[in-house]
Amino acid sequence: MIYKRSSALFAEAEKVIPGGVNSPVRAFKGVGGTPIFVKEAKGAYLYDEDGNRLIDYINSWGPMILGHAYAPVVNAVVEKAKKGTSFGMPTEIETQIAELAVSMVPNIDKIRFVNSGTEACMSAVRLARGYTGKDKIIKFAGCYHGHSDSFLIQAGSGASTFGTPNSPGVTKGTAKDTLLARYNDIENVKGLIDANKNEIACIIIEPVAGNMGCIPPKDGFLKGLRDLCDANDILLVFDEVMTGFRLAKGGAQQLFNIHADIVCFGKVIGGGLPVGAFAAKNEIMNHLAPLGPVYQAGTLSGNPLAMAAGLAMLTELNNDAEIFNRLAKKTEYLHQGVSKVLIENNITHTINRTGSMISVHFDEGHVVDFETAAKGNNDTFKKFFHGMLHEGVYIAPSAFETWFITDALSYEDLDFTIAAVNTVLKTL
Ligand code: PLP
Repeated sequence: MIYKRSSALFAEAEKVIPGGVNSPVRAFKGVGGTPIFVKEAKGAYLYDEDGNRLIDYINSWGPMILGHAYAPVVNAVVEKAKKGTSFGMPTEIETQIAELAVSMVPNIDKIRFVNSGTEACMSAVRLARGYTGKDKIIKFAGCYHGHSDSFLIQAGSGASTFGTPNSPGVTKGTAKDTLLARYNDIENVKGLIDANKNEIACIIIEPVAGNMGCIPPKDGFLKGLRDLCDANDILLVFDEVMTGFRLAKGGAQQLFNIHADIVCFGKVIGGGLPVGAFAAKNEIMNHLAPLGPVYQAGTLSGNPLAMAAGLAMLTELNNDAEIFNRLAKKTEYLHQGVSKVLIENNITHTINRTGSMISVHFDEGHVVDFETAAKGNNDTFKKFFHGMLHEGVYIAPSAFETWFITDALSYEDLDFTIAAVNTVLKTL
């Protein structure tokens, strides 16, 4: 593989953009080397500026669940763009996508669209605080809910890659209202609630964690949270920015049959355009401005291009009864193939998987929380990452990320990937 043009473009970018990137993990700091500049993408493949073709397991960090440049989504955006790109006034398509989302997801009556997953989670927490009249929140170590101040407390994803989970600029005042719990440890959560009686507005969680690698909830963990919330007048907020419209039509709520009070969306719901959303029952959503006192707004919220992409994407997912089974089957196939070659090559590992989310950890035993995820051998991961890149397979440039399987991946692509893993393992 040649990365000449990518290297040159990165050098230019570094002069005018901090670190050369608009989101830190893209800079390859966790794995070393030069980031790859994408020229275009179609289906399961990325094509970079040097003409290399890569099988893509990141898929814009989740949104491209049907593959890149998916025709119905692209066409919907192109047609909409011809009619104006932003009005800051209501449009019919906002109601259409809201109706569809509400019909697909359990336990929600109303949904408010924003521009990113960060905004969705930030607004959900404000709403939870406004609704309950309480200030504190519980989040889990290793879970990432975007980069708003209250969440940059042992966050996963890029924040973990760099080992700077507590960012400068987050005030002590903000940090004191975020209580940290251990993922998959219900007793730990109970202890925090007991020590902060009547002070906790919500528990926010990735129902399947995807930002410390993929970490599924242990049996009964989400139900345990639901029960604790009910017993203590705490709202349960599911951050389904990754899992929403990916694990099932109704996301993790449907998959695990657990009712969340507020649900956050991002990624898939925007079909690759900048969209987030949060949703709940009327009783909670009616506290939002202009109906209620909890303020939340956005110049570009409900943007027509973004709504067109999202509506086309959700329509495709809603009309395809087999899509989530198909994705899960492909992911299982990849899991089995990769697991087989890891065992054959005597590499210590753990593979976690839920639906179309999967991650490979280079360590022994179970990876069930941030502590166990952080034990993975990062040197092995770095070599693995670069080896896979050399073979033409793009996985996330950080050991703390999930691989996202798309419907565009063929079984030939999966076989190619498994063979590439086998080749790379022999070089470790
Ligand atoms: N929540 C989760 C679970 C995420 O994975 C992310 C982003 O990766 C976010 C929130 C933040 O979303 P965004 O990057 O769109 O602000």
